[in-house]
This record gives sequence, structure tokens and C-alpha cells, in this order.
Amino acid sequence: MTMPYVLPRTGELGPPVPVIVTPTGVCYADPGRDRAGRDLDGLLWEVREGTATGPPAYTAELHPIRQCEAMENLLCAGCRGPADRGPDGMLWLIPLLGAAPNTRWEGMHVAIPPMCAVCAELAPRLCPVLGDGHVTLRVREADPIGVLGTLHPPPGRPGQPEPDALVPYDSPALAFVVARQAVRRLCQVTLTP
Ligand SMILES: [Zn+2]
Repeated sequence: MTMPYVLPRTGELGPPVPVIVTPTGVCYADPGRDRAGRDLDGLLWEVREGTATGPPAYTAELHPIRQCEAMENLLCAGCRGPADRGPDGMLWLIPLLGAAPNTRWEGMHVAIPPMCAVCAELAPRLCPVLGDGHVTLRVREADPIGVLGTLHPPPGRPGQPEPDALVPYDSPALAFVVARQAVRRLCQVTLTP
């Protein structure tokens, strides 16, 4: 794992392609780009200028399309293979990001896909965010709950776009969000040493 699958490359971090807000939702002006930016459910994902070149960008958010693919299919964040499953559930490495080690992980929302056993060994040495402190969890249930993204007010409504909105999958606001990360809720969590 020299290039973790879900991380953006530095060349992929150009400015986000602007969206148009219509009465029925957000879209990209270019129809080809709009098609490429939508998933099977019609949800629009953030597209940035740039190409998949350069080293991995460890400090950025995960790459929207690859994060979504790995998260939806429960693929390993590092290698895109199947995530590791054991008697106590699926393997998940979560960076502490300043959280106390005795944090309650049950029910937490995550935007990081699970991992296979090999990548889980390597990742904390490669990734400075995990290397700064992480927990290893086994998770029996990880329900998809929604997306994190930029929520635009419908035309004619006052207000500014909300850059870090968590929009549930059953929300009518879903048509007005430019999604960046698919989010799951971790349940029946066991903290492993
Ligand atoms: Zn892997």
C-alpha cells in the first residue's frame, strides 16, 4: 500500500467545480461532468479540477468518489480489497484526532472506510493522522446514514451554503447537497488492543 486507495493525490486538490442551484436541486453545468459526478441514486458528488498525480495528501479529506465506493461496498480504505471480518465484526481504524482514548465509540459516525488486516498493520506507519493516535475497533453493524457535504439553499431562499452538513439519506434536502463523504454509524463496537 504505497498509495492508499481513498486518499486524494496532491494533483487532485484543485478548486471544486462550481455547481448550479436549480429548483429541483444542484447540478454541474456540463452534462458530461454532471453524469460522471452522480452515483446510482442520483446524488451529486464533489468534483475538483486536477488529475490523479502526485503523492498522497494525508491531511485532506478522503477522495469523494473513491471514499464513497469503498464505504458503500465496505472495501478496504488502503487497497480496495475486502475489509477484514472476524467473530466480533469488521476491522476499523479510527484516528483519535484529539479524542480521549476512553471515548465512547458505540454509535459514532465515521467517514473512514474499514480496512483489511494487512493495511491495518501498515496504515499507522504510513499515515501521520493515524500515526498520531488511533483506536482499532471491531464493528458488527455499520449502517449507512447519510452524506457529509455542502448543502445549498434552494433558489429564492435566503442563506449561504452550509459547507459541512450531514444530510440523512431520507432527507428531501439531499437534492441540494454536493456530497463529499458517505457516513456510517458504528454499532456493536468492540475496542481491541
Ligand atoms: Zn487493504
